[in-house]
Order: sequence, then C-alpha cells, then structure tokens
Amino acid sequence: MRKSGTVYLVGAGPGDPDLLTLRAARLIGAAQLIVHDGLVDPAILAMARPDARLISVAKQRARHTMAQDDINALLVREALRGLDVVRLKGGDPLVFGRGGEEAEACHAAGVPVEIVPGISAANGAAAAARIALTHRDASSVVSFVAGQCKGLSEQDWSGLAGKGRTLVIYMGVSTAPQIAEKLMADGLAPDMPVAVIENAARPEMRVLCGLLAGLPDLVTQERVRSPALIVIGEVTARNNLALARIAEEALS
Ligand code: SAH
Repeated sequence: MRKSGTVYLVGAGPGDPDLLTLRAARLIGAAQLIVHDGLVDPAILAMARPDARLISVAKQRARHTMAQDDINALLVREALRGLDVVRLKGGDPLVFGRGGEEAEACHAAGVPVEIVPGISAANGAAAAARIALTHRDASSVVSFVAGQCKGLSEQDWSGLAGKGRTLVIYMGVSTAPQIAEKLMADGLAPDMPVAVIENAARPEMRVLCGLLAGLPDLVTQERVRSPALIVIGEVTARNNLALARIAEEALS
C-alpha cells in the first residue's frame, strides 16, 4: 500500500505575509498541493511554487462553494494518494476555522495531520489597531465569540463582556444590530466603547470607534464589509490608532 501523505493545517494569519510563521512560509513554499480558503491573501498564495496546484474552497456566508464534508474528503483523498497537502486557512486553523473537523476527518481515515498555528484575526487586529486585548487598568479577561446568524440568539454570552472584560466578535458584521441588542439585553451599558477593525493587517485596514448603542449605525454608515472584527470593551477607548489619529489632527 502506498504511504499516506500528511495534511498540514496551516494558519495564514490575518493577511500580511510577514505575519506568517517561518514553518508556514516553508510549507507554503515547498507544497505541491495547497487547498486554501477565501481569506488567504493573494500575496501569500504567490509564495507557492510555480508548479504547485492551488485549489480554492472559498466559503462566504450564504454562498458555499464547497461543503465541509467535500473539503474533508478532498484532503483525505489527496493524502491517501501519497501527496502532502497544505490546507491553508486565514488566521489560526483552530479559531473558527473548522480545523478541528478537518483534523478529525484525517484521523478517522488514518491520515497524519500536523497543525501549524497562525496569528488569529483578534491578535492581528489588536496589534494593527493598537488595542490591548488585556490591560492591567482596563481588562483582565478576553473572549472570542462567533457572531454569525446561525444560533446567535441561543449563544450564552453573559459575563463575557462588560467592565474589566474584552469581547472579540468574529463574523459579526451582518448581525451587528442583533449583537448590540443581545449585549444590552444582557445588561451591558449602551455607552460601552466598541471598535470595528476591517481588513486588519492589510493595506486597506480601517479602525472605527464608537459606542455599543451606535454599533449598528456605525457598521451601516461606514459600509463595513467582511472581514472585520468587532471588539467590545473599555480597552478600545484607550489610545488606539483611530483615536490617536484624531488627537493628532486636532493638534495640527
Ligand atoms: N481562523 C480565522 C477566523 C476565521 S472566521 C482566524 O483565526 O482569524 C472569519 C472571520 O475572521 C471574519 O468574518 C472576520 O471576523 C475575521 N477576520 C479574519 N481575517 C480578518 C482580518 N484581516 N481583519 C478583520 N477580521 C478578520
């Protein structure tokens, strides 16, 4: 029997190729087959060998080009043919990346898996926007949640946001009104500071600041598009990039 290849679940970080791990960069540069999702920056795909085969399994809310089961089957099939497969995902493979499901499918088929961590959007966005996720004076807890439509109302976020805490919401752009409503129903103050970071760690990044009650309007008026993160908490009102720019403009 032919020896199985390995499936590498590789985090591509938030965008900028400089934010790849060395291991990720080496694997991308050596791969014969790369299966990637839509969030992976073209500059990172350009690091592949000219003869590498690139398969996009891009997923967008409401438009699935490939079902998760089909992606799992593709990874397993190629590995069982003896090929090493680089499965490249935005951010970190194990943070809202379905890396766990893909690893399970590989284990079930006897295919070896290695997971290469990446800088998750929360870390990339925090650094790029200069927002401390924890801060001794403002927050000692940070939580990551998914804000997409399915099951949003059933998710229990109580206690995750509020004074002394930071909540980072992935995939929350289209549900911003429900998110603001949900958090205020949980007792969060309408004037809790929030930030929206669109295209973090990419040249077109935008950092928008506001208050929780105004989050839906902020997202609509500024026409925020995915990928974007919503960060809720006092840390967003400290000297972040957007506020620092406003202060600099006022001085000049
Ligand atoms: N595994 C990824 C998350 C995938 S879910 C990670 O660890 O980052 C996709 C969501 O991640 C997007 O809807 C958005 O909320 C967030 N995201 C990914 N890249 C981003 C970026 N460059 N800027 C802002 N948000 C991003």
